[in-house]
Amino acid sequence: MSEQADIALIGLAVMGQNIILNMNDHGYVVCAYNRTTDKVDHFLANEAKGTKIIGAHSIEEMCSKLKKPRRIMLLVKAGKPVDDFIEQILPHLEKGDIIIDGGNSEYQDTDRRSKSLQQKGILYVGSGVSGGEEGARYGPSLMPGGNPEAWPHIKAIFQSIAAKVGTDPCCDWVGESGSGHFVKMVHNGIEYGDMQLIGEAYHLMKDACGLNNDEMSEVFTEWNKGELDSFLIEITSNILKYKDAEGNSLVEKIRDSAGQKGTGKWTAIAALDYGIPVTLIGESVFARCLSSLKEERIVASEQLPGPPTNKYQGDKKEFIGHIMKALYASKIISYAQGFMLLREAAKIYGWNLNYGGIALMWRGGCIIRSQFLGNIKQAFDKNPKLTNLLLDDFFKKAVTDCQASWRKVVATSVELGIPTPCFSTALAFYDGFRSERLPANLIQAQRDYFGAHTYELLENPGKFIHTNWTGTG
Ligand code: NAP
Repeated sequence: MSEQADIALIGLAVMGQNIILNMNDHGYVVCAYNRTTDKVDHFLANEAKGTKIIGAHSIEEMCSKLKKPRRIMLLVKAGKPVDDFIEQILPHLEKGDIIIDGGNSEYQDTDRRSKSLQQKGILYVGSGVSGGEEGARYGPSLMPGGNPEAWPHIKAIFQSIAAKVGTDPCCDWVGESGSGHFVKMVHNGIEYGDMQLIGEAYHLMKDACGLNNDEMSEVFTEWNKGELDSFLIEITSNILKYKDAEGNSLVEKIRDSAGQKGTGKWTAIAALDYGIPVTLIGESVFARCLSSLKEERIVASEQLPGPPTNKYQGDKKEFIGHIMKALYASKIISYAQGFMLLREAAKIYGWNLNYGGIALMWRGGCIIRSQFLGNIKQAFDKNPKLTNLLLDDFFKKAVTDCQASWRKVVATSVELGIPTPCFSTALAFYDGFRSERLPANLIQAQRDYFGAHTYELLENPGKFIHTNWTGTG
């Protein structure tokens, strides 16, 4: 069989089909394959009709139709199907061939696969793909990581199909082994945080300020013209003004129990595993968990009292301005925490991460795309060794400018009994991070008191001692 295709793609569900059509638009010949081969025929006869896309009905046939080094991308359900396909493909590959997993795989799995395939001479790439169906079709954010030797062979295809900001593709090499999937996981965690922050702003405007949904839609439209300019703010404005067939706001009819697929939780677990205080993403996951306890909340709402009013008594317009600043400052904290987690994982796994490049990959094509990521890119361009976003001049000034409003919003929400877990945890993190001294000295004393865990004296670092606290000093 002659070599025809530039790349093969396995997995003809919505993501796979759209990525294939996107690659075809950019001049690449793609060979499509799927476990259920009927779908190959259906795809070729319908969505792919009139294109250069070709198909295969077996793994062997697919591999025989590829130019060398062979490039094979998987877009199948994460987990066992990925391992199964790797096993099936391997006998038909030669050293230097490339397997790319574009699904939502866990980064530890990618790390394991990358290392094991390296020993067999196969170049493995785990690529985060973000932007959903629409992104896959017309320009996703792509976050490839794995064996760096694969990058020169896939760079042109990946960067051509990726979303663009100006002429810059939202795709660059992330780093080694599981780093692409780790970065995608953190992206999803940040997405949870951004959504919860917007939810808290909506809650305050609705309950404390008494705005209706059309008014809130206008506020979000205004916010979308400034530093909060982002996809999620834009769609929130659209959602708030959307009316159902009876002319009522649809969003108000939706059951207030948030679902989750797990990537926010994975980010929080990684943060706990590596000891990095990614508090905002953690809170946003717990906020979804709390929202899901709908039946229990209904019972509690009839029994547990709050403050006498949840209405803000002051100047509402001014307060909405404060909410915007609280949202902006909290968002800065969330991204600062996300990058802290990336930095720690890079240290543990020995990845050389390109932080500015990561900000650019998220700048377009994905759910968290925003103007703000351009500021983050600039911060890392200015200082690639930046240890924390909060120490960059631009973000330092932004947080300082927002600080009084942020405190006002958190204090007011506490007084009014309106939960703002992410605004609050962001501020608590900020105050903790800027504290030269925290009460952990007392915790150390308590640990030593009940468990002889020892402590270190400020004046004698590195030396751990124990005290018999019930004896005399
Ligand atoms: P999906 O529903 O996650 O997966 C369907 C595909 O996986 C089909 O090709 C199916 O083949 C194959 N598959 C399922 N179980 C299999 C098994 N045991 N053995 C072999 N093949 C199996 O499809 P998707 O929504 O297009 O997503 C593809 C990947 O991209 C997933 O990892 C997903 O998490 C990730 N992703 C999705 C989105 C999104 O917005 N949907 C965004 C980013 C990333 P059959 O047709 O034979 O069943």
